[in-house]
Amino acid sequence: MNVTFLGASGEVTGSCYLIETSRAKVLIDFGQHQGERSSREKNALPTPFKPAELDAVVATHAHIDHIGLMPRLTRDGFRGQVYATPATVDLTEIMLKDAAKLQQADAFRDQRKAARQGRDPITPLFTEEDVNAFLPHMKKIPVGQWHDVAKGIRVRPFDSGHILGSASLEIQISDRGETRTVVFSGDIGPSNIPLLHDPTPPITEQPASLVVMESTYGDRDHRPIQETLSEAESILHEAIWTKSKVLIPAFAVGRSQLVLYYLARLARSGRVPQFPIYLDSPMAMAAMKLYAKHISSLDAQAREIVTSGDSCFNIPGLICTESAEESKAINDREGTAVIIAGSGMCNGGRIVHHLKHNIWKRDCHILIAGFMAAGTIGRQLVERRETVRIFGEEMIVRAKVHTLGGLSAHAGRTDLLRWAEHLAPANGQPWPRIALTHGEDASRDSLAAEMHRRWGIVPACPKEGDRFTL
Ligand code: ZN
Repeated sequence: MNVTFLGASGEVTGSCYLIETSRAKVLIDFGQHQGERSSREKNALPTPFKPAELDAVVATHAHIDHIGLMPRLTRDGFRGQVYATPATVDLTEIMLKDAAKLQQADAFRDQRKAARQGRDPITPLFTEEDVNAFLPHMKKIPVGQWHDVAKGIRVRPFDSGHILGSASLEIQISDRGETRTVVFSGDIGPSNIPLLHDPTPPITEQPASLVVMESTYGDRDHRPIQETLSEAESILHEAIWTKSKVLIPAFAVGRSQLVLYYLARLARSGRVPQFPIYLDSPMAMAAMKLYAKHISSLDAQAREIVTSGDSCFNIPGLICTESAEESKAINDREGTAVIIAGSGMCNGGRIVHHLKHNIWKRDCHILIAGFMAAGTIGRQLVERRETVRIFGEEMIVRAKVHTLGGLSAHAGRTDLLRWAEHLAPANGQPWPRIALTHGEDASRDSLAAEMHRRWGIVPACPKEGDRFTL
C-alpha cells in the first residue's frame, strides 16, 4: 500500500495524490497548477499514471487547483466514478465549464500570434465537450458516511469548512489482510467565519498511519476579522469621499459570497451611504444559487437567512453584470463603485480588464482578500511592485493596494495547529506520520518546525514524485 505525491508538494496549486494497493488505484484530486509561467506546460504534461488503470477518483472540493484537470481523465480512458460531496459535484460543473471556455478563448487568441511567431498555437487542456463527457462520471457522496470506492478502499468525507461542499477525507485502505487509515485534509477553512461550518476535527475511526495536511498559511496567522472589517469600512469611506473605485479580485466560489455577505451587513447597518456594488462574475452568481440548494452545508446563521426567504446576498445597490458588454460599461461610469470580479489571483478573467482601467489611478483601491500564488498579478500587487504587466503592457501601479488577511478561506497557523492537535495519540501510541503539502516551502517548513517544538514530531515535507509506503 502506498501514496504518491503528484502535486501541491512545495507549492499551493496542482493538488494530486495517488493511492495504490495490489488491488486498486485511487486518485485524490487532480488540479491545475496555477500562477507560474511554467504552469501551462505542467498542466499539459502526460500523467504519471494511466487514467484507464484508475479504479476511482475522489475530489476534496471544487477549486480549480483541485479538480481543474479532471476532464483529461475521461478523455484519456478513465471509465470509473469520481466521488465528491453533493455541493462539490454541483460546483464542479460550473467551474469546469467556465475553465473550458477560458482555455478555448485563450487558444483562439493565440492562433494569430503563433502564426506570426512561426510556432504551433497553444491547445486547450480540454474542451467543453470533454467536460460534458466527464460530468456523468461524478457521483455524490454525503458527508459523514462511509462509501466503498474501489476494492478494499472506502472513504468518509468530513466538513473542512473551506468553501461550499469542501471536505477532508478519511480513507481506509485494506490489502493482503492489513488495513491502514489515511487522512487527506483537503483545504482547511478558518474557524468562526460566517456562512460555513467550522472545520470538523480529524477524529478517525482507527488511528491514522498517514495524514496529508495543507499548510498554505503555516507560517502566519490572519488579522482578526473585526480589524479587517474596520479597515475595509474606512477604505469604503475614503472611496466614497474621493468618488473612486474599489476593486476586489475574488474567487467566484467562496470569497465572492463572503465579501458580499459583509458588504450586505455594512450596507444594512447604515454606517456608509449606499453606493453601487457590481458583482461582475457570472460564475459567482451561479455559485450563489447553490448556497440555497445545499443548505445543510451552511452554518446556522446563514441557514436562517436563506430559509427566512431573504437571500444572504440581498444587498442594497447590488448590480449583477452578466454580459461582457455590461462588464465593460462599468469602466465608463463615474463615481464610487465596488467591483467584485474574478479571477481571484488576477491571472485571468474580468478583474484584469478592471485593473487595466484603474491600476494607474491614484484614487483607486484594490482589496486583496485571498491567497495569491507566486507568479500571478495578484502576488505582484501584494508584493507592492511599482509596475505590473497587463495584456503585454507594463503599467504603473498608483492604486492603493490593501491586503485584508482576515477574509481568507484558509485556516491560519493557529487554526492549522488546532486541527492537527486532534491527531495526538491516546495512551502512548505513536503519532501518525504527517506530510505537509499545499504550501510554499517557507510556510510548510515553519509549520513543521512548530509541530516539532510542540509535540516532538518531525512532519515530512514531500517533493513531487515522492512515494510513502503505508
Ligand atoms: Zn481550495
